[in-house]
Amino acid sequence: MAKRASLKSAARTETLAKPSVIPFFKSVEENFNKAVAVTKYPQGLADQIRVCNSVYYFQFPVRIRGEIEVFEAWRVEHSQHKLPCKGGIRFSELVDQDEVMALAALMTFKCAIVHVPFGGAKGGVKVNPHNYTTEELERITRRYASQLVQKNFIGPSVDVPAPDYGTGEREMAWIADTYATFTSGEDINAMACVTGKPIAQGGVRGRKEATGLGVFYGLRHALSKSKDLKRYGIEAGIAGKKIIIQGFGNVGYHAAKFIQEEGDGIIIGVAEWDGGVYNPKGIIVEELAEWRRENGSITGFPKAKTLKRGAQLLEYACDVLVPAALENQITIRNAPRIKAKIIAEGANGPITSQAEHILLDKGVFILPDMYLNAGGVTVSYFEWLKNISHIRFGRMGKRFDEGVQKRMIDSIESLTGKMFSDKERKMLMTGAGERDLVYSGLEDTMMFAYDEIMDLWRANKKVKDMRTAAYVSAIDKVATAYMQLGLFP
Ligand code: GLU
Repeated sequence: MAKRASLKSAARTETLAKPSVIPFFKSVEENFNKAVAVTKYPQGLADQIRVCNSVYYFQFPVRIRGEIEVFEAWRVEHSQHKLPCKGGIRFSELVDQDEVMALAALMTFKCAIVHVPFGGAKGGVKVNPHNYTTEELERITRRYASQLVQKNFIGPSVDVPAPDYGTGEREMAWIADTYATFTSGEDINAMACVTGKPIAQGGVRGRKEATGLGVFYGLRHALSKSKDLKRYGIEAGIAGKKIIIQGFGNVGYHAAKFIQEEGDGIIIGVAEWDGGVYNPKGIIVEELAEWRRENGSITGFPKAKTLKRGAQLLEYACDVLVPAALENQITIRNAPRIKAKIIAEGANGPITSQAEHILLDKGVFILPDMYLNAGGVTVSYFEWLKNISHIRFGRMGKRFDEGVQKRMIDSIESLTGKMFSDKERKMLMTGAGERDLVYSGLEDTMMFAYDEIMDLWRANKKVKDMRTAAYVSAIDKVATAYMQLGLFP
């Protein structure tokens, strides 16, 4: 593929170069094997759950500025024990088959943990989106999507992509439109072929912030359990905790925002590909976002110290480190110097399996990716449900609930002879809209999944860490599905 010059002056070659560490899929396999070892499932069943069921590798041509450019691409369906398969599409120069396979596997376990009835999948195109115009990206995305249609790797009941690193609402809308074009109005559920769409194209309110919000709900819940925290010497409560975030993209930005605005956590550092900012007294997330909007980078933010290498911040003292960028950020090289008490994995696979041993020996509490960042796919599931039911959440009940609540308030007032203020009345009367329902469904999902994993951990003495507990929880569900399907009598 020809190398394209960057289109934006401040554009990057691409975030954090892939360090030469243990291959990502191998790291996932190692964690999986560690978990399988504490279960009683037969080897063959474990093998079937571990491997990727289908790997579709293809190359496709797109005409770019008068020349034909060929792009490498993948869609991997890790597990088809439940359909559709589900998982994002990554646009990055660093994408390769190993990465897509690892991410697809994590999707299977993630879905199982949060009771989303899907198999796991992931897609990727080897492309640096910063080097292409919007029109070029649209052609690349549509061509990629049409390849998936041709090979039956997309469809509301087959495989449902979503955004991931380098893609967003815009790309999802193009994919939905491409799919609809191919199915020529015959599939009434065509909209449900992809999630993470703009609201006007069948998206659901709350999907954009869902992963970061899920990180916040999960972290807040974990930090409310003083008994679980005791063994790590951590005091309960998110308020006042000093937090460092790596990655200020969709996940990192929203996680930081909710942790600060809803949880009263103190964001002391933010790391990005081109540097970091640090202020032990705290950084106002919205001010930093505004600075980046105006200047194209978080560096130089006047209310914090700028660091040349963002990755340095991973090693700073803090209560919670939230890696929310890419995989393989904490390796055997920097793990011995990590000072955080808790690592809350917003990204997929930020800690290698080897680095994890070092961190666990140091007594770090790791909230694993497959649990903590499952908010995105949880709300994707809500979007898919909205699309196949063809109605916005709350549309039928909101007004009715408000009527019931109004009658209740009126009765209380006439019985007590006291009146509510207009503000109180409004607060008590307002029925739940789509965003309220999505947020509450997500909050409940994150709390329930955490409790389920922790119960399993407590009940199984052979499980020594939360990631292993999460894997076992996921493996139990996938194994049960296979056994009930009759494949493993
Ligand atoms: N790309 C996201 C993830 O890694 C979301 C996947 C989805 O919504 O299907 O979890």
